[in-house]
Parts: sequence; C-alpha cells; structure tokens
Amino acid sequence: MENATKNWIVGQLTLGEFSSRSAVVSRAVWMAAKIAVLAYVLNVCAHFALVAFDLLPYDLAPALVIATVLTPPVSFVVAVIAYAVVGFAIYDLGISRAEFERISRIDMLSGLLNRRAFQRAFDDGKGDVSLVLFDIDRFKTINDTFGHSVGDEVIAAVAEVIREGFDESEVCARIGGEEFAVLWPASGVETITERAERVRRRVAALDIPCNGRRVKVTISGGVADLPNGRSFNEIFSEADRALYVAKAGGRDRIVCHRDIDSLSTGMIMLPTALAGAEPSRRAG
Ligand code: GH3
Ligand code: MG
Ligand code: MG
Repeated sequence: MENATKNWIVGQLTLGEFSSRSAVVSRAVWMAAKIAVLAYVLNVCAHFALVAFDLLPYDLAPALVIATVLTPPVSFVVAVIAYAVVGFAIYDLGISRAEFERISRIDMLSGLLNRRAFQRAFDDGKGDVSLVLFDIDRFKTINDTFGHSVGDEVIAAVAEVIREGFDESEVCARIGGEEFAVLWPASGVETITERAERVRRRVAALDIPCNGRRVKVTISGGVADLPNGRSFNEIFSEADRALYVAKAGGRDRIVCHRDIDSLSTGMIMLPTALAGAEPSRRAG
C-alpha cells in the first residue's frame, strides 16, 4: 500500500494525470463526485445499520432526507478542495522537476545538449548512426586576443550555425569547451559530410561582432559512421581521429574517417596517433 502510494505520487510528478491546471481541476471534480457518491452510500448504509440494531435516535425517513441533502454536497466540496490543493502542489512539483531535467540536459552557453545528454541520446538510439565532431580552430588565440567573454560569444555563434545546419532529429551538443558533436540517426557518411561541410563554410563566412570589432573564426570536423552495435567510444574515437587529421591537414576542413588512411599517407609529419597508437584524446 505504502509502495503503491509512493509509486502513484512519483508517477504524477512526471505530469501524468496532472499535466495542466485544468487537468487538476477536472480530475478533482471527477474524484470528488466519486467520493460524494461513496460517502452518501456509506451514510445511508450506516442509517440502516443503526435501525437494524435499534440505535437510531430519530425517525429513518427525515434522517435519510437530511443525509441526502447534506452528505453529497458537503463531501463533494471538501473532496474537491483537498484533491485540488494536493493536485496543484503535485503539478507545481512536476513542472519544477521537468524544468530541472531540461536544465540538466542543456549547455547554458550554447543552448545545445550537454555531453551527458548527448551520450544518453547515443545510448538510447537504435540502429546505425553517424557522428560529426566539430572543434573551433585556434580558439585559444581568440581567447588570448579578444578575451574570454568574446570567446564565449564565438562559441554561442558557432553553436547557432551548427543548430541551424542540422534537423531536429539530429542531436547537436556541446561536448567540451569549443567542441561540438552531432549524432546523425543513420549511416552513410556522404550526406552528413556534406552537411558538415556546409556548416564549416557558414562558420568561415561568419563575421561575429564583438566590442566594436569583428571576429573571424573557422572550424574543423571529423566524421565517422560505424555499423550498428558499435560502442560510443568506438565511433567517437573514429570521428576524433578524423578530426585530428583535419587539424593536422591545416584546419578549416572536414575529414571523413574513411579517408584517414589516404590522407595520412600524404602527411608524413603526422604523429603515430593517427595510426591508432592513441585512438582518442577525448572519448570516454
Ligand atoms: P586547435 O585549433 O588545435 O583546436 O587549437 P585550440 O586553440 O582551439 O585548442 P586548445 O584545446 O588548445 O584550446 C581550447 C581553448 O578553449 C582552451 C580553453 O581555455 C578554451 N575554453 C574552454 N572552454 C571555454 C569556454 O567555455 N569559454 C571560453 N571563452 N573558452 C573556453
Ligand atoms: Mg578542442
Ligand atoms: Mg580548438
């Protein structure tokens, strides 16, 4: 009983029956009506029981009239008030809980999902996925030249371009300081590489106004798709390697993990990490 009550309350906190104030009122009226009928039936039964034991101190007929006139409305009003008070309290708690949950998933600076929510979206996803990792180029220089707050504005501006560059079904997140990730719910790197390339070009074309100056910025990206069943770390590691190649190749470019080998042979100065000695600097 205690568990059932607890489960019911927790269930309502996810805005089950109390999804809006009008839902609370209509639910209160419906429950109060049922309680009023129950109270009336119990009252009448109690009168007959008292008569059976010859304990009723007055006539049954006027007693039933009084019970009929008073019990339903009184019990209805009391039940509506009690149920509505509890219902509104649960509704408010449910709203706070939903808001808290939303805030815990969102990165406040960029408005995108945070890393934890991104990983959860990956874990909840089914079937093939593709992943893009974006990283702002030479961001430290932007911070050092213009200051940290301008750096923040640059992060927000880049995040906006990334959000606009992908559909709602594609999960966009800020997974680190100046690092972003997009989860594409299908394999086939051609389309997502095209999209990533478009985002890269848009970012390069941005003129971010900051303190009367205009800041130019570029991003690099790594793309990976792996068949269903691969772990987050595996696909992340592949995209990260591609990003590493994009950085080493001069930045302001998108590299697909399938092209790593052909690109790597043309870059003899790249460290052994590209050959898989250090698969990921960030995954985990
Ligand atoms: P690369 O092209 O190789 O990516 O060089 P980079 O300078 O972008 O890379 P690095 O990782 O050296 O620098 C990232 C910088 O981002 C360092 C850190 O101070 C800064 N950073 C991390 N988080 C934030 C943030 O929330 N706001 C701002 N303004 N800066 C941040
Ligand atoms: Mg970085
Ligand atoms: Mg960077």
